[in-house]
Amino acid sequence: MAEPELPGVVGFVGLGRMGDPMVRRVAAGGVAVRGYDAAAGATDGLAGVVTAVDSAAAAAAGAPVVILMLPDSDVVEKVVDGGLLDALGDGALLVDMSSSEPLRTRALARRVAERGVTLVDAPVSGGVSGARAGTLTIMVGGPADAAATLTPLLSLMGRVRHVGDVGAGHALKALNNLMSAAHLLASSEAILVGERFGLDPAVMLDAVNGSSGRSGSTENKWPNYVLPETYDSGFTAGLMVKDIRIALGLAEATGAPSQLAARTVELWGRAVEQLGPGADHTEIVRWLRRAGVPGPD
Ligand code: NAD
Repeated sequence: MAEPELPGVVGFVGLGRMGDPMVRRVAAGGVAVRGYDAAAGATDGLAGVVTAVDSAAAAAAGAPVVILMLPDSDVVEKVVDGGLLDALGDGALLVDMSSSEPLRTRALARRVAERGVTLVDAPVSGGVSGARAGTLTIMVGGPADAAATLTPLLSLMGRVRHVGDVGAGHALKALNNLMSAAHLLASSEAILVGERFGLDPAVMLDAVNGSSGRSGSTENKWPNYVLPETYDSGFTAGLMVKDIRIALGLAEATGAPSQLAARTVELWGRAVEQLGPGADHTEIVRWLRRAGVPGPD
C-alpha cells in the first residue's frame, strides 16, 4: 500500500487560541487551508496563511479533510448540522480536534457515516505553546485506515497517537485534563502551605521537580504562568471545567471510583463562578490564595 500523503487542501473551522497557531503549522507544511471562524476579525492576522471564507460550508466544500477546533460538542454539532455536513463529499474525513464529549462524538460519527463521511476525534494536549511549536500530543480515535491517512497532516501539529475507536481520543483527553486539574489544585495547595510556613515557592519547585511530587503543574504551569504572575497559558478556566465534567460523567457512567474527581469538579466549578469562565485556568491559584483552602461549604 502507498504511504499516506498530505492532502492538497483542508478546511479548518475554529481559529481561536488553539486553531490560529495550529493552522499556521498546517500551512507551513505546504497544505492549502480554507479557514472559517464565527468571530469577526478572527482571520485578520492570518492573511497569507489561510484563505478566509465566510462559512463552515465554504471551508468544507470539496475538501477531502475538514478540521474542527471549536469550544465543545454543542458548537461542533451546531456547525456540522448548520451546513458543513451538506457540503462534505462522499469519503471525506471530518476531524474533531476540539475537546468534545466522547458519547456525543460516537453518536455524531454514526450520523455522518450515513452520508459517507468518517468522523475522527483528534483532541490535543500541550496548550497554546505546544500548538505554536508543533509539539502537541494528538489523541486519535477512529478507524485505523482513517488514522493512518491523517497521520502526515496531524504530524505537522504534533505527536500522533492512535488510541482507539471513535470517541476514544475525546475520552482520553477529558481524563488527561482531570489529572491535570487535580494536579494543579494539589500542587497549589501544597505550595501555599509551604509559603505560609516560610518556604520560597521557587525553591520548593526546584526541589519538587527533582522529586516524586512533580507534575505538569510544577514543571510548567507554576514556573511559567503563576510565579511570574502572568496567568496567560491561553487555556481558560471555563474550558477546563467543561473537560473535567466530561471526565466525571465518564466515571459515573462506568461506575469507576470518582471521589477525588467529584471534589475536583466542585472546587473548579466554584472557582469559575467567581473568576468567570474566561479567566486563564492558572488563575485558580489566585482564587485559592483569596479563598484560603475552601471547606465543604
Ligand atoms: P477559543 O475559544 O479560543 O477558540 C474557539 C473558536 O471557535 C473561537 O475563535 C470562536 O469564535 C470559534 N467559534 C465558536 N462558535 C463557532 C461557530 N459556530 N462557527 C465557527 N467558529 C466558532 O478556544 P481554544 O482555547 O482555541 O480551544 C478550542 C478547543 O481546544 C476547546 O475544545 C478546548 O477545550 C481545546 N483545548 C484548548 C487548549 C488551550 O490551551 N487553549 C488546549 C488543549 C485543548
